Amino acid sequence: MKELAQIASAVQASSTMVMDALAKQMQADGVDVIGFGAGEPDFNTPDHIKEAAKHAITENVTRYTPASGTIAMKQAVCRRMKEDCGLDYVPSQVVVSSGAKHCVYIALRTLVNPGDEVILPAPFWVSYLELIKMVGATPVVVTAEESAGFKMTAEQLADAITPKTKALILNNPNNPTGMVYAEEELSAIARVCVEKDIYVISDEVYYGLLYDGVKSVSFASLGEDVKARTILVNGVSKSYAMTGWRIGYLLSSGKIAQMMGNFLSHSTGSPSSVSQAASVAALNGSQDCVEQMRRAFELRRNYIVERINAMEGVSCLKPEGAFYVMMNIGKQLGRTLHGELISSSDDFAAALLKHGLVATVPGSGMGAPNFIRWSYATGMDNIKKGMDRLQGFLNG
Ligand code: GLU
Repeated sequence: MKELAQIASAVQASSTMVMDALAKQMQADGVDVIGFGAGEPDFNTPDHIKEAAKHAITENVTRYTPASGTIAMKQAVCRRMKEDCGLDYVPSQVVVSSGAKHCVYIALRTLVNPGDEVILPAPFWVSYLELIKMVGATPVVVTAEESAGFKMTAEQLADAITPKTKALILNNPNNPTGMVYAEEELSAIARVCVEKDIYVISDEVYYGLLYDGVKSVSFASLGEDVKARTILVNGVSKSYAMTGWRIGYLLSSGKIAQMMGNFLSHSTGSPSSVSQAASVAALNGSQDCVEQMRRAFELRRNYIVERINAMEGVSCLKPEGAFYVMMNIGKQLGRTLHGELISSSDDFAAALLKHGLVATVPGSGMGAPNFIRWSYATGMDNIKKGMDRLQGFLNG
C-alpha cells in the first residue's frame, strides 16, 4: 500500500492525554493510582450551567448552529472579555469552536503557510509543538530558563525572528509552568511583534486562575496595533470546569475571523449547540463559581509548592497562575530509584508511576527535559497523599 501522510505520521500522541488515559486505566483495573497528569479541574460543572444545557435539550436546541457559533454565544464572549479584560470586540470578530485546542489549530491554519516559522517559548504545552507541525510549519523553540522565571524576554524573541517567521504562540498564564508575564514584560514582547511584523496567537485560557492578587493582562489590550495582529484564544474549560463540553473561542480582526469561520464550515460544521447554550450561561451568569474554584486552587498551590520545596533533591518555583507546578528533577538524574536508573524526565515519571503510584507528566514533551509537571487540579486529600508518595519514592 502507498505511504501514509507524512505530516500525520510524524505527529506524536499528546503526553498529557496519554498519561491521563494510563492513570484512568490503572484505576479501572483496581490500582490505587493518584492522577496529577491532565490539567482538568476536579470540580463538577456548576449547576446553573448544567441546567442551561438541560433546558436547551428540552427546547430542542439540538440542531446545527452557524459554523462559527451562535450570536448569543458571541455576544456572551464579547461581554465577558470586556468585563474581565477591558477588551472591545464585536460578535463578528468572535469564532467559537470545539475547545481551545482546536482554536489554536484553526488560528495556525489561518495564519501560516507550509515552511513558515512559528516561535514557541519553552516550556510549552505539548500540543503547540505538534499543532505547528500539523500545519506544515516549522517550530522555532526559544527556551525560557527556570532562572528567568520561565519567561521569554523580548530580546530572546527578537533574536529568534527570521524572514520566515510568521507568528508567535504565547501562553499566558502558562501551561506547564504556571508563570504569568507582568504587563511591562508583555509590552516589550508586543513591541517586537509589531516592529518585526509577526502575528501572535495568545492563548489565555487560564486567565481566570491567578493567585496572590496578580491581575490578568490580555495581550490584545496592549494597543490597537497589537490587537490587530493578535488572535486571542480562550475557552470555558478551565475557568468553569467544563473540559468535556469542548467549547473554546477566538477573538481577532473581522477578516481573520471570517477566514476561520470559513474553515470551520468545512471541518467541524459547528460547535455543539447544547454546549454553546451551557457556555452562554457560564459566561453571562454569576462568576462566583470561578472565584470559589480559584480560591481552592490557590490553597492547593500553596501546599504543593511548600511540600516539594521541603524535599531533598527536588524544587519548584511558586507559580502565579493556572494549576500546574514544574518540579525540577535535575538532581535526580543519574540516580537509581527503586531499581530504576533515572536518566530523563520520562524515566522519572515512569518510575514514579510504577513504584510511587503517582501519575505526572514528564517535561520532555514540553521542551523542559529536567522537569516533571504536576497538575494540582485534584482534591487536597489526593495532593497530600501524592506528596507523601513522592517523598517515599525519593527516599529510594
Ligand atoms: N490542557 C490540559 C493539560 O495540559 C488537558 C489535556 C490536554 O489537552 O493536553 O493537561
